[in-house]
Amino acid sequence: MEHSQTYYDLLDVFKEASGCPICHLTLQGVQAYLESLNYEYVNDPGFRAEIESANGFCPSHADEWLHIAHVLGTALIYQAVLKRVSHDLERLPVGRRSGGIWARFISAVTATRAGVTDCGIVPPARACPACLRRAELESMFLTVLLQGLEDPPFGAAYQGSSLLCLPHLRQALCLAEKDMTFSVLRDAACERNAMLEAQLAEVIRKHDYRFHDEPVGVEHDAVARSVRYIAGAPGIDHR
Ligand SMILES: [Zn+2]
Ligand SMILES: [Zn+2]
Repeated sequence: MEHSQTYYDLLDVFKEASGCPICHLTLQGVQAYLESLNYEYVNDPGFRAEIESANGFCPSHADEWLHIAHVLGTALIYQAVLKRVSHDLERLPVGRRSGGIWARFISAVTATRAGVTDCGIVPPARACPACLRRAELESMFLTVLLQGLEDPPFGAAYQGSSLLCLPHLRQALCLAEKDMTFSVLRDAACERNAMLEAQLAEVIRKHDYRFHDEPVGVEHDAVARSVRYIAGAPGIDHR
């Protein structure tokens, strides 16, 4: 049976990378996307309209962008964004504040999280383009992973990997159509959870002064692995 390049990329990541394979490939793909924007598309009118109506990048992609981007292209994009923001600010009505500051703060935070605003500030018309690309990549990699898990050798390679982080496990379990793939994902995660719990118990036990001098075992990085597993990799940013 013919397999896509992504299928083989996943197999390589199962073997070689530590951490969630979907996080790993997605972050690589987002980095390649940002690099291609920087080298090829920064002056493309379609991309410029997209990034300007998104008010630039979200915090984590803005940070990544600043590490790689040309100064001129960034200046042109953010000049247009600043113009748009000023346009909105200048049109804000004055004298419509009511209620206590805490109530207004909660209302502003809730409105911002919901992507709307009740104080006249126009939210960006579009989401951060790198976040949209990240979602496309996650969906593509998860689709190939779920199809791959129908092949026993691929399933065995997955079970020998660092497995999915919790955010991607949730997505994969929601997307899994076949009982068999659902069970492979769930059972492997439960086994890994039990192993991590036991390793954390060992970390806790060795913090007792009576066992302090015992040599460090496989649990040496269990705390970091547990935190990373529950949160997903930095730059994935969703729950
Ligand atoms: Zn992940
Ligand atoms: Zn983003």
